Amino acid sequence: MLPYGRQSVDESDIEAVAAVLRGDWLTTGPALAQFERDIAGIAGTPGAVAVTSGTAALHTAYAAAQVREGDEVVTTPLTFFATATCAIWQGATIVFADVSEDTGNLDPAAAAAAVTDRTAVVAGTDYAGHPIDAPALTKVAHDAGALLLEDAAHSVGGSLDGTPVGSLADVTTFSFFPTKNLTTAEGGAVVSHDEALLGRASEFKAIGYTRDQSRWRAEGDQGGWYYEMQELGLNYRLPDVLAALGSNQLKRLDAFKKRRQAVTDRYNAGLAGIDVLRTPAHRAGADPMWHLYPLRILDGRRRQLFDHLRESGIGVQVNYIPVHWQPYFAERGYRKGMCPVAEAYSEQEISLPMFPDLKDEDVDRVIELVREFVGA
Ligand SMILES: *Cc1c(COP(=O)(O)O)cnc(C)c1O
Repeated sequence: MLPYGRQSVDESDIEAVAAVLRGDWLTTGPALAQFERDIAGIAGTPGAVAVTSGTAALHTAYAAAQVREGDEVVTTPLTFFATATCAIWQGATIVFADVSEDTGNLDPAAAAAAVTDRTAVVAGTDYAGHPIDAPALTKVAHDAGALLLEDAAHSVGGSLDGTPVGSLADVTTFSFFPTKNLTTAEGGAVVSHDEALLGRASEFKAIGYTRDQSRWRAEGDQGGWYYEMQELGLNYRLPDVLAALGSNQLKRLDAFKKRRQAVTDRYNAGLAGIDVLRTPAHRAGADPMWHLYPLRILDGRRRQLFDHLRESGIGVQVNYIPVHWQPYFAERGYRKGMCPVAEAYSEQEISLPMFPDLKDEDVDRVIELVREFVGA
């Protein structure tokens, strides 16, 4: 089966990991510090906080944004459900707002209609790697006294109007799961231009340790053994073993991006001009880091096309089932029909294989199978 996504690991990655294993620091060491500098470099931020997954990054970001009981978080249903569920862990209530018909990203007008004086965060996802409309969403969030969070699990290395993903929103999260744009096996990161927020993120992922002595509540010399915990935290520390893999992968990020763009261009060319198909939208000013190739089939035969491709050995996926359709949300009063644009998008969508080591002949085989299926 041709997978829909997979990591690209080479001998230099294996060497980088082995070098850490031969050294003194398996965790909280220099490879982690280097990886955080590298991620901050890509994001254009003063710092980065590496964590154990994209989900941990979201939880850490909501905690660092001081989301708490009674708050509302406005988010998209066309995402992996962790974008929403991590805010629930902080006690927030989720309000789903609909997406734009072209990109599948959170629609600023829908978000504006959904915010209230209880909204603490507006959270958009860079669906498939295409950046959210950050300027419009920032205005919606800030007008409501809220922060904009960008779930950039799909889009590290992308940019909008020349500004890198990571510098577009108040706080941005990444995932380094194997299918994503670069991998640390499991891993993620939080970036922001707000140093106080980064400080809270860094304490949260380290079980709430307050390292900065100037912030200690206790006054005077408490002894060399002293430490403080002022807020709740969890252990979401990314080990150096994995951070080293991340830093080495980052050296190939540009190459990964070029190849993902080339695969996208090849699919676009091969599937263009067919009435029942919609190739992914690409807005002016956006320089996406294509993580997925989300094709839409408009004639109601998504199920048949999906089964046909799977039976032909093509590992297609659907990204995503609308989050509010999940039983957890359905059992709490969220209803089908609440976000019709996202729901229609989801019912038409099929993610074709997309990863840097995908061969042109495999792309052509997928195109041929799709064209045959729709009779083009
Ligand atoms: C993958 C993903 C996550 C979660 O990342 P993990 O590293 O798998 O925990 C969150 N949001 C989106 C949009 C994702 O695609």
